[in-house]
Amino acid sequence: MTERRPVRLLAADTVQRIAAGEVIVRPAAVVKELVENALDAGANCVKVELREGGKNLIRVSDDGTGMSRDDVRLAVCHHATSKIESVDDLRRITSFGFRGEALASIAAVSSLVIETNTDPDRPGTRLEVEGGEVRDVREIARCRGTTVSVRALFHNLPVRRSFLKSDSYEMRLVLETVRAYAIAFPGVAFELTANGRPVLTLAAAEAIRERLLAIFGKRVVESLQELRAGDADLSLTGCLSAPTQVKGFYDIQALFFNRRPVRNGAVVRAVYQGYGPMLAGGSPNFVLFLETDPARLDVNVHPTKQEVRFADERLLFDFVAEAVRTGLGIARPEEPGGVAFEMMRGFEPADAAASGFWQLHNSYVLAQVASGYVIVDQHAAHERVIFEELVEGKRSSPPQGLLFPITVELNADEFEAYSRVADRLATMGIETKVFSGRTVVVETIPAGSFMGRDEIRELFAELAQVDSGQAVVEAGVARLIACKAAVKAGQRLAPAEMESLLNRLFACREPYFCPHGRPVVLKITLEDLERKFGRT
Ligand code: ADP
Ligand code: MG
Repeated sequence: MTERRPVRLLAADTVQRIAAGEVIVRPAAVVKELVENALDAGANCVKVELREGGKNLIRVSDDGTGMSRDDVRLAVCHHATSKIESVDDLRRITSFGFRGEALASIAAVSSLVIETNTDPDRPGTRLEVEGGEVRDVREIARCRGTTVSVRALFHNLPVRRSFLKSDSYEMRLVLETVRAYAIAFPGVAFELTANGRPVLTLAAAEAIRERLLAIFGKRVVESLQELRAGDADLSLTGCLSAPTQVKGFYDIQALFFNRRPVRNGAVVRAVYQGYGPMLAGGSPNFVLFLETDPARLDVNVHPTKQEVRFADERLLFDFVAEAVRTGLGIARPEEPGGVAFEMMRGFEPADAAASGFWQLHNSYVLAQVASGYVIVDQHAAHERVIFEELVEGKRSSPPQGLLFPITVELNADEFEAYSRVADRLATMGIETKVFSGRTVVVETIPAGSFMGRDEIRELFAELAQVDSGQAVVEAGVARLIACKAAVKAGQRLAPAEMESLLNRLFACREPYFCPHGRPVVLKITLEDLERKFGRT
């Protein structure tokens, strides 16, 4: 039997370390806080330096206002901030920071050195903190600005340290972070180096387009269209893929609320909704800035402020969808006339009794409809059905448990990609466990799908191919799963299976294209036939 142990209050420094570990989860989180501080201090140039993916050194230097000797001593204390004075100020917050927690949290889990100066004609300050305790304060010569060096991150929180991934993975997350702020602040120069090598060098730019060009190159930027909508109360500006330029995978999807990089699923869905059928299952690029009165945003819902709540989500959704639709010149989805619309209407088996489905070469399903007949690519159709079920979460049944779980050995890249999306895979019906090392056991697959060892292997290999510079998005993962889980060409289907497939297909939002944008359905009308046979 387990021995009962007395309840104890934890020592203050243990509490602080645990709390700090919740906000500061990895090097990218440190970089985020330090870059925000630099921008809050009005920096024109921000430099980020990493060693070993930030595990051994993260250094952020800026040319902002700097801090006085008294300020810097206070800055590393909990709840020390120069940015708000009272709760009321939260309603008009325009700085990134306001909790006064970041430096204290970083200090609690690393060795921290801050070098700062407010006036180059006078001595600056160097402050050394070790595990939350100030060890040394002295004068130094330094130009205006601040350099924060974070060494031995999580040295006193070994569990957290052991959760860090490879150096290159941590570096990529830092790169994503720096890139996000660089997009939000085109006028600020940014530099990122890793182990002494430059990773990103961005001179101050005049406009957002120029900055995007420097980061993503001509190919991406030329496919973007500018958008400007709304008024002083609520506005949406930025760039997004021209409707004809939407590709299978995106290069960038970035969202900013009052210049703060955020994630907000509702806005992303609204953008997709704005494109409507023009997306054809693809993923648009977008860099969108929402500006609104700070009082309408609750930035305090998440300790790292990566999620922001908008006072009226419904209004925001409609505003964004409409702005995108109008900005791109896309017709409203309700307006009849689209081919997909006609198809959905058209699919009424001519005569229930004779609703025959016929399979051609075990690959195409032929079905009679009111005005003629349709030929459906069975693989593409199933892909579309699974894809929509995955992204819209309208999966009808729980995942299918595998009687014999499939065990696969992943290489380093695959494992990294897998670790990143394991949760997402699980929500999409692929539940996995890490067995040991890089061996992954797949325990379930999406209901009604066809996935064996080969498909699972291909899925992991392709996940690793997806541009990992950015978090793999829902749609990208869903598209891969759909492709692997769908019935293949050449597979025989029973009449009931064909009927079910077509019913599910035409219940889809976008039945006409597969998630890769290829057509799913060909429709031949009676008029077509009459013309071919020279009857008209
Ligand atoms: P917050 O940003 O929420 O105020 P932080 O712990 O990040 O809390 O920083 C505490 C304070 O230290 C800030 O309010 C600011 O006054 C000062 N500070 C931090 N970093 C810098 C910097 N790079 N330049 C100037 N002042 C800074
Ligand atoms: Mg801060």
